[in-house]
Formats: sequence, structure tokens, C-alpha cells
Amino acid sequence: MQRVRGTQDWLETESSYFRNMERAFFDKAQKYGFGEIRTPIFEHSEVFHRTLGETSDVVSKETYTFQDRSNESLTLRPEGTAGIARAFISEGLAQKIPLKLYYCGPMFRYERPQKGRLRQFHQIGVEVLGIESYLMDIECLQLGYELLKTIGIQQKCHLQINTLGDLESRAKYRETLVAFYEKYKNDLSADSKVRLEKNPLRILDSKDDVDKKINQTAPQLITSLNDSSKKYFDSLVAALNTLNIPFEVSSQLVRGLDYYMHTVFEFVTTELGSQGTVIAGGRYDGLIETMGGPRTPGVGWAAGVERLVELADKSILTKESPLIALVPADEVGEVESLRLAQQLRSETTYRVEIIYGGNVGKKMKKASNKNAHYAMIIGSQEVEKKEFGVKTMATGEQVTMSLSALLNKFRA
Ligand code: ATP
Ligand code: MG
Repeated sequence: MQRVRGTQDWLETESSYFRNMERAFFDKAQKYGFGEIRTPIFEHSEVFHRTLGETSDVVSKETYTFQDRSNESLTLRPEGTAGIARAFISEGLAQKIPLKLYYCGPMFRYERPQKGRLRQFHQIGVEVLGIESYLMDIECLQLGYELLKTIGIQQKCHLQINTLGDLESRAKYRETLVAFYEKYKNDLSADSKVRLEKNPLRILDSKDDVDKKINQTAPQLITSLNDSSKKYFDSLVAALNTLNIPFEVSSQLVRGLDYYMHTVFEFVTTELGSQGTVIAGGRYDGLIETMGGPRTPGVGWAAGVERLVELADKSILTKESPLIALVPADEVGEVESLRLAQQLRSETTYRVEIIYGGNVGKKMKKASNKNAHYAMIIGSQEVEKKEFGVKTMATGEQVTMSLSALLNKFRA
């Protein structure tokens, strides 16, 4: 039996990195007044087709889509925003705006597996629905930036921003862009020839080398912005400067999805090879309407948890409370270990484990292998005298103390 290609098993250490990564994110998001949303891992396929657009890489090549036993077409979610937008509409959440939501969970994409690119990966993300202000774009960016700081990697990541303008600006840009690409029509990749018909902006996002070369001389969107779009972007840039959040404007940044407007951004690193984007997002004022809901502004981002964990300072993600190992020496000690373990677990913040298997020497060895901070040998002698020997594993020092002294020591 083998794992499916592009999936992972996480054992103790890795799981704890992921758990602590998620916790750091939850804490941050809650500080910003966000509340959690959990949506299903699969949806009707049209949820993704409508939101992400048929020409997006995700929908055209990467989804896990299947017929269930009643012939419904279902798709494993490749990202979080579409499901949240669906919930917004189907659960009537328009009554509750503004909504500030965060989520986490597995996502599925049929991609060529490599480092930082998996078929089941995990995202954390935020979505704000019902607030149409560049201030909220900044709050979202700031939340991402603060999260990178918390896990010790803000120096390794830089923020790129761009604006796509409003619908009017984009339509104007589209014309300019089509006129430009028509000149290179024969050189464009097969995918980009299709994009030229359906969604020329996406060519800017192409990973094909020839396309990339052509893109270097493509006209920039900033030149097509109308006044209000320009003002929106200028306010954003000014505020980022005031807040001392470092960034650069990247005119090539368009994001792959149809529904973005105004602000788009990515936190990128050079330390993960070509899988360099760690946080990606933007404003998507058109999304809810595209799906048949009421016009509702939105902004958010998603981050790949595997990429964040890979980059993170692991000492920050290793937040385990220290361990007390109880080593039963005989039958009386076994039951006493259970009793004492229970008391220590409920009255102190330590982790407490009873060590199993072999004689006392072997169990002490196991306690040491588990990196226990303290070990206590417990047998009929200890029970009789009501005194316990506590060994500090790092120094080998041993002190004998009464139960109440012991509890006081570990409660501190
Ligand atoms: P990329 O350009 O790397 O393919 P993307 O534009 O497809 O990324 P998004 O859809 O914006 O990515 O997803 C947000 C984040 O999720 C990415 O920035 C990345 O950190 C992570 N991510 C996306 N696809 C994968 C994957 N297959 N494996 C691991 N992480 C991923
Ligand atoms: Mg991708």
C-alpha cells in the first residue's frame, strides 16, 4: 500500500508544527476580530467553475472532479473562497454583513507534485464580505504581515502589490492588451492563445518562458486606470508607507482568478525555489454577484500552510509544555503512577506520561529518549514513605520531596 502521489502523512513533530502554525494564525485572526467558518471539503462542481472561471488553470487542469453514486458532479475544493461565497448565498449571510471570516483546511489540486507543490495541501485564509474600503485591504495585508513576523519569517518574504482597477479600467486595459498580444499571436503558448480569446489578462500570469518574455514589454494596467481607481490605489500605497509595511509595486501581478478588482497582492520568498508565493490575495468585489448573490464587496487572502511551515523558524513552532515521566517500579507503583499522573495533569501545565515496558533502567532510558524534563521512579517504597524522588534529566540531580512539595514545585 502506498500513499497517493502528492499527499503526505504527518507524524508527531510535523503535526505539531502544523498545529502551532494554525494556532498562531487563529490567535492573530481573532485579535483582528475575525470569526471562523468551516465549509465542506466538496461542493457541486459548478461552484468552482462559476467562481474560478473555466479558463483558470485550477478549473481547466487541476480539479479533482467525480460523479457520485447518483451521478452528481462533485469537486474536491481546490481553494477556500468559492465555498465561502456559496455559503454566503445559500445560507443568506447577506443579512449579517460585514463578515470577517477565517478558515483553514485541506485543498486538492491535480498538479505535478514537487517540493512545496502537493495534490492535497492546506490553506489558512481570511475573507471579509461587505466592506468596501481600502482600509480593510490594509488590515488583511497587515494580518498576513504580522503572521509572518510571529513565525519569524517576515525578513524572508516581501510584499508585492498591484491594482487591477475597477471594471471600467479593466475593460479599457483589456482592449490595450489584446491589441498588444495580437502582434505576438503566433509566438504565444497554446494556453495563452486561448486566454487571448477568453481572458487576456491571464496571459500576464503565464508560467511559459516565451509568454514571460513577451510579457516584459506588455503595456501596464496602471496606465488604464480611471480616476477613482487611481485614487483607491494611491490611498493604499500611502497608508502602507505610513504603517512602515515594506512593499513593491509589481505590474505583472494579476492573480489567476477572474473575480479580482482593485488591490491584488502576494507575499513572496526566494527561498522556496519556484514555489515562492506564500500568501496571495486581493479584493474581489465582483465575486458574489457572479455567483448569483447580491452585489457584495469582498477582500481576502489564502496562504499555503506547507510553504509557511517549511520557511518558519521551527523553534517558534515547537511549543510543547515540558514532560514529566513517571516510571512505575512495581505493581503498587503502577496504580500510584496512574493516580499521580492524573493529579499532575489536572493541577499543573506539564505533560505527564507513564513509561511502559522493561525494567526500571530501561524505562528511565525511554524517559530520556522522550526528552522528559523530569522523571520519577514510583514503587511501594515511595507509596509507603509518601515521599517521591524527582530527577532533573538534564543535570541528573535528584531530590526527594513530599507530595505537597512536589505539587507546589510543578504548579509554579
Ligand atoms: P502557484 O502560483 O504557486 O501555483 P497559485 O496562484 O495557484 O500558486 P493560489 O490559488 O493563490 O495559488 O493559492 C494560495 C496559496 O496556496 C499559494 O500562494 C501557495 O502558498 C498555496 N498553494 C497553492 N497551490 C499549492 C499546492 N499545490 N501545494 C502547496 N501549496 C499550494
Ligand atoms: Mg497554482
